Amino acid sequence: MQLSILKCISCGKEYALTDVRFTCMCGHLLDVAHDVHELKKKFRLSKKYFNGKRATIHNQPSGGVWHFGELVLPSVKEKEIVFKQEGNTRLHQSKKISSWLGLRHFYLKHEGENPTGSFKDRGMTVAVTQAKRLRQKAVVCASTGNTSASLAAYASEAEMTGLVLIPKGSVAVGKISQALAYGAKTLIVNGDFDDCMRLIFEAQEKLQAYPLNSINPFRLEGQKTIVWETLQQLGWKVPDWFVFPGGNLGNTSAFGKALHEASELGLIEKMPRFAVIQAEGASPFYRAFKDGFKELRPQKAHTIATAIKIGNPANYTKAIRSLQWTNGIVESVTDNEILEAKAHVDGAGIGAEPASCATVAGLKKLIENGIVKPKETVVGILTGNILKDPQAIVDYHIEKHGELANPPVDIEATIEEVKRFL
Ligand SMILES: *Cc1c(COP(=O)(O)O)cnc(C)c1O
Ligand SMILES: [Zn+2]
Repeated sequence: MQLSILKCISCGKEYALTDVRFTCMCGHLLDVAHDVHELKKKFRLSKKYFNGKRATIHNQPSGGVWHFGELVLPSVKEKEIVFKQEGNTRLHQSKKISSWLGLRHFYLKHEGENPTGSFKDRGMTVAVTQAKRLRQKAVVCASTGNTSASLAAYASEAEMTGLVLIPKGSVAVGKISQALAYGAKTLIVNGDFDDCMRLIFEAQEKLQAYPLNSINPFRLEGQKTIVWETLQQLGWKVPDWFVFPGGNLGNTSAFGKALHEASELGLIEKMPRFAVIQAEGASPFYRAFKDGFKELRPQKAHTIATAIKIGNPANYTKAIRSLQWTNGIVESVTDNEILEAKAHVDGAGIGAEPASCATVAGLKKLIENGIVKPKETVVGILTGNILKDPQAIVDYHIEKHGELANPPVDIEATIEEVKRFL
């Protein structure tokens, strides 16, 4: 058997890794499936191997996505890799946040510290590398947020054309500013989101444009490294919980696969539990979970957390598998709970965009409900940078005066006035 193939998660049908396809003939999603036992033998994979590993790619610090390249895209040649030193993000500990939550062992893995400000870069380095290996002419997505920002930066690095398709009238220009700045061609389509998706897959068939939307399985391979990197940072001591937001459920899918593979490789002895957090106004996964996953009922999504404002998650079936592997749960939080948690994350001097702070809001709720225990070790994932959404900050602190608001104050130009605030 080959070391890696594309494999349907439902019927098991296999396709070559070089096929440009994203769903099986039966309609279900594809995995990049690795023969982990062969890989283990071939590269002698172990905790010690990864701990002792030095940078292999020119300029790449030890760590990051390609630190785990043997388990991400084993067949890739070093010179084919399109990368921007993504990953290697910090594992923050904050006394302020821990005591607000009532936890003793709490870590925040900050994926907003990636090159374009979100974890999307971890997936993009792999998927754009694959696009280049397949000699695709362009990369394309339909996104108004972090995916298009990341696509644009990696397309530039790869010297490929980056295309971002957006339905007309659906988005403020500010949200696509990074894509414009990094030089992706942004096409405002006279149509809706479904028209954009149709065009993307037509462009794939007819124009050799490679889709980088959420169902691209190579993106998930890169996102797996968030979990492995965290485990290595913790000395391979498995935490009790991983808590993170769920939108299209790419991370939910990728993190489960990462742990399943780590367990098969003998890198970990036990499984952590997952808690996936959704915004109440965009919570189809939460509602399906409550219903025993009988069915997914798509909804029209509303939430301040735009990165998880998704009513019909693309990776739904893969995400269910991850919850099964990790005895996982799903929780939902209101926009107010997200904003309160964000004020705590920001106020600790760490900061993250609203979707990321759903993590902390959900965790707070799970602790209050006795599901997460104070003595347990918890890793929360912050998915995006605080500067992704300055409007949410201005609204909270200045316009709408949230509970922990810290608005600016006008003063006269005297030292007495300044002294009042010490
Ligand atoms: C894309 C994104 C999410 C949603 O992640 P999924 O893998 O689609 O569930 C959450 N937060 C941020 C900041 C994102 O960019
Ligand atoms: Zn199938």
